[in-house]
Amino acid sequence: MAHMAGTRGEIDTESSAVARLEYKGRTIETRPVAEDQGEEYPRVAFAINGEWDVDGRPQYGMPGQSAESVVSDAKRLITQVDGTFSPYVRAYWYQPGTVEPCPRTKGAAYGQHIKPVGAVCPELRCVKEARVKARRAARATGITASSLSNLLARGGFTRAELRSDGTARSEGFSAEGEDHNRRVVILWRGAGPADSLAGELPRIAEHLQGKGFRVEVSVSGRYLVVFARGAGGTGEREYTPGGAGVVVEQVASVPAPNAQGWQVQLARRELAARTDMVDIEADDDGALDGFQVLADGQGVMVLRVQRGADPRKGTAARERWDAALDQLEAALAEAGFTHLSRNRVRVSARAPRPQAAPTIARVQAVGRPDEFTERVRFAAAATDQESEHPYDPRQVGGDVILHANFAGATLYVVDAAGTHVGRGYRDRASATEALADWYGLPLPVQINHEPSRRDWT
Ligand SMILES: [Zn+2]
Repeated sequence: MAHMAGTRGEIDTESSAVARLEYKGRTIETRPVAEDQGEEYPRVAFAINGEWDVDGRPQYGMPGQSAESVVSDAKRLITQVDGTFSPYVRAYWYQPGTVEPCPRTKGAAYGQHIKPVGAVCPELRCVKEARVKARRAARATGITASSLSNLLARGGFTRAELRSDGTARSEGFSAEGEDHNRRVVILWRGAGPADSLAGELPRIAEHLQGKGFRVEVSVSGRYLVVFARGAGGTGEREYTPGGAGVVVEQVASVPAPNAQGWQVQLARRELAARTDMVDIEADDDGALDGFQVLADGQGVMVLRVQRGADPRKGTAARERWDAALDQLEAALAEAGFTHLSRNRVRVSARAPRPQAAPTIARVQAVGRPDEFTERVRFAAAATDQESEHPYDPRQVGGDVILHANFAGATLYVVDAAGTHVGRGYRDRASATEALADWYGLPLPVQINHEPSRRDWT
């Protein structure tokens, strides 16, 4: 077709026939094209911001359309794009410098579009893609056991080889305890129990800190807790090279009212030292894979805790679960716990009772004779290394009181702060022991009676 020959070259844009006007920051130009230039009807070629061609072809108004009408159409489109941005309108219709090719389709053969400069592309597929990318980015900034494990392996650290039951075949780090992309625990496996950051853990901590991760040392001081980049973690126990290898915080050992029983404290200390499992109470409250120690009379109950617990028999998960219970049972036995028993979720045991009582109670009758009150003060018994250490009676101590009326008599116990500890004890010795247990003091208690200070006046 003849008009296919129409090119910019055929339209004399320098001709005096070109009409030029400014409209809302754009230049609109028109030029009538004569029939003898290959057009069947007289037409008007036009340019916006000097763009006479689109994809190598001139732009024309409709056949027979006047120059005024072409200009009026152009003004209408300009007003329209200024009101509502449209990614598919050619860039030259916009104020110069306000739009740019969308980077997603720049250079693409089809479907190119534009976006406002410095803004997110509002085109529908771009919006959708941005949403997917944002979700992916959120995942990427999260933290998983496998992502961290791969990152450390790339950093040259040794990964522990684990058997199907979860025990270590070879020494190395192990990333575990993943919690909702939030944090991961890094343990050192295969070297046997340690009381500090073992193996490459200090170097691993520094490596991860260098990569922007928040790295904390667990309460037990034996493993690392790594949080996602930019996360604040618990805000405590941040790893510092100087603090490496130091047990940051002992499991509570200061006597305190309503403390965990000494047998619970002992079991927690021993399990922390003898297993590579996580004491979920010493750690924060995230649903970790580990154990929890509860008091059970004078003994303990060690529960196996795992998110999505109770794996089915015959599965690898169940093998790991049982291997963990084996580990807990063996550690308690090694630590001298007796009467071990277990079911599929816990190990029960009785705490070893030392031959020499570790706690001394000094008992003295006080107050009015009809009150039958005995005041109790406690001391840590002398050991080979240390002499007897009395506790401040205003902090640790209390009264054993016999309350009698016409119906009978009962022993009750209050602590140093006057808090009711319990009642109905068999005898004064067991009431005194209950008071010691209230403060988390180790049992048994050796009771020393002191001269009465009863007020007979
Ligand atoms: Zn776009």
